[in-house]
Amino acid sequence: MKIAVFKETRNAETRVAVTPDTIKKLAGAGHEIRVEAGAGLAADFPDEAFREAGASIAETAQQAAAGVDAVFCVRLPEGGSLAAIPDNAALIGLVAPHDNGEEIRQLAARGVEVFACEFTPRITRAQSMDALSSQANLAGYRAVLEAAHAYGRAFPMMMTAAGTIAPARVFVMGAGVAGLQAIATAKRLGAQVSATDVRPAAKEQVASLGGKFVAVEDEEFKEAETAGGYAKEMSDEYKAKQAKLVAEHITKQDVVITTALIPGRPAPRLIDAEMVASMKPGSVLVDLAVERGGNIEGAELDRIAQKDGKSIIGYANLPGRLPADASSLYAKNLLAFLPLVTAEDGAYAPDWDDEIVAGMVLTKGGEAVHDAVKG
Ligand code: NAD
Repeated sequence: MKIAVFKETRNAETRVAVTPDTIKKLAGAGHEIRVEAGAGLAADFPDEAFREAGASIAETAQQAAAGVDAVFCVRLPEGGSLAAIPDNAALIGLVAPHDNGEEIRQLAARGVEVFACEFTPRITRAQSMDALSSQANLAGYRAVLEAAHAYGRAFPMMMTAAGTIAPARVFVMGAGVAGLQAIATAKRLGAQVSATDVRPAAKEQVASLGGKFVAVEDEEFKEAETAGGYAKEMSDEYKAKQAKLVAEHITKQDVVITTALIPGRPAPRLIDAEMVASMKPGSVLVDLAVERGGNIEGAELDRIAQKDGKSIIGYANLPGRLPADASSLYAKNLLAFLPLVTAEDGAYAPDWDDEIVAGMVLTKGGEAVHDAVKG
């Protein structure tokens, strides 16, 4: 297969969809990789490293894409790069189907078959391909470092000759992949960590990382997990009880990190302005759900908002702040997925009966086939 990788442009993306390591493996499997010049620079992979690994470097996206069977991307390409994708090629990446329906339907009309990494099924066999998890893990880690950086005090307890520094109290809301890594990272930094989630399975996971679990554990909570392991939208009654509990807990916290998401829906609002106001001056909040509407009132996209002496960090792309590692893991996710759309002779030939392929495909045979992108 001939595979193109463009320089990412959407949302100032720093990640790249291949690394020298995956290029070597792709070339070893007989694929030909063409990378647009400069595509890996922001992630510390110079063109030379790609070339040495076995890729060829093209001056433009158009030259990289000419005649390829597939394009690997992080974000959906835009402008000239989007137009450069050859008709009938495959496009694989984190294409944000819920946000980019129109562009994806236009790709469908050109016969492009689009696969969304967002829809990798959460089954054991797909774990190595699961880009949401690989990136969420890094986002959770980075969220704690951003908070520690913005916080005017130390995280660990320190007993010094000049006096004792109290440990920071960190509260993590949403104990999925990102939240669990945030708990682990904050613990490693010496903070006192508590966490909440609406899925009962999260309780034990939080405890196993040394965090204290804080939640309204009523009948609704006990059934709040879908078969896929995701959260359900909670009733207004539950939300009110949860908000009351959180409001009491939050006044004693120094740092709050929110990661709560419900697939296909706007992020649940967990913290209102009043709760922010109730926190001590100097407290820091980080909203990982800011791109999906935000968990925290007052969070602003890609900014640190200041509200009554508290900082609310709203960076949308936290994995992109660790571009080298994020790219390495993401590129491996794509490498692991590729065999599912490849015939034995190396040609592009998706196995449409495969549960993973069927879950990720957005467009095929000239049409949008996934509900998320049907017009
Ligand atoms: P996510 O990104 O969809 O959401 C983040 C967290 O927010 C979830 O834990 C969710 O329960 C929580 N949340 C939603 N609404 C909330 C609210 N009102 N208050 C508090 N928390 C709320 O979740 P995720 O990180 O993708 O993980 C979801 C589950 O899937 C986890 O159990 C994870 O371990 C599991 N998982 C399984 C696999 C696999 O088996 N291959 C891979 C990845 C994740």
